[in-house]
Amino acid sequence: MKNSLTFVVEPDTGKLTVEVSGAAKDTVHEFVKVLGKGTSINCARPDKLTIRLTSPQTPSATDDFSIWLYDLYHNSVVDGPGRRSVIRVAGCSVRCPGCYVPQTHDRANGYLVSISSIVNEIFENRHTHDGVTILGGEPFDQAASVAELVSRLKKRGLHITVYSGNTLETLIGRKDKSVDYILTHIDLLIDGPFVAQLSQGAGEYRGSRNQRIISRP
Ligand code: SF4
Repeated sequence: MKNSLTFVVEPDTGKLTVEVSGAAKDTVHEFVKVLGKGTSINCARPDKLTIRLTSPQTPSATDDFSIWLYDLYHNSVVDGPGRRSVIRVAGCSVRCPGCYVPQTHDRANGYLVSISSIVNEIFENRHTHDGVTILGGEPFDQAASVAELVSRLKKRGLHITVYSGNTLETLIGRKDKSVDYILTHIDLLIDGPFVAQLSQGAGEYRGSRNQRIISRP
């Protein structure tokens, strides 16, 4: 994803985000001149500048889905069965005391990326994984985007594990069609908040003993 310019339009607000990776400053300034002054937002990658325009743009029928991403990595053997690529989303409303990844709580610590770029990255690295894990942050805070991501990954036959700080019962109780779509199309759900007092002996893939590994929820 180096030396790239990625344009992301948020379908719900029409905001345009331009991800600039490895481009010369002059190029960035040319875009600012054409697109207007935006807001530079923080990004997890030190070599990337992201500009979000403050004026909403009109979404079109060709808009891609996007998601707030904290980072994406491969070859994990601790985030679900086998060797996995991991999509870690940014933003978490659960806020468990003692959380190991507080840096993922604020969406602004991540960056908005198109789902197609994530899917492409996963498939370019297909030799490095047996499946994909989506964790956070809290994936169900972005249920519509995660549902789209799950749909595209599942069409390619990938095994999908999702972590949530909410219990399965809470998620079902939302009666949200995107949440329901995720729950009925993934292979494993690891649910429940992290409870620091229950962290000893939590078992494979889990942070605390209250969390459950639920197959085909
Ligand atoms: S749900 Fe996950 S990311 Fe959110 S506070 Fe709990 S452990 Fe941390």
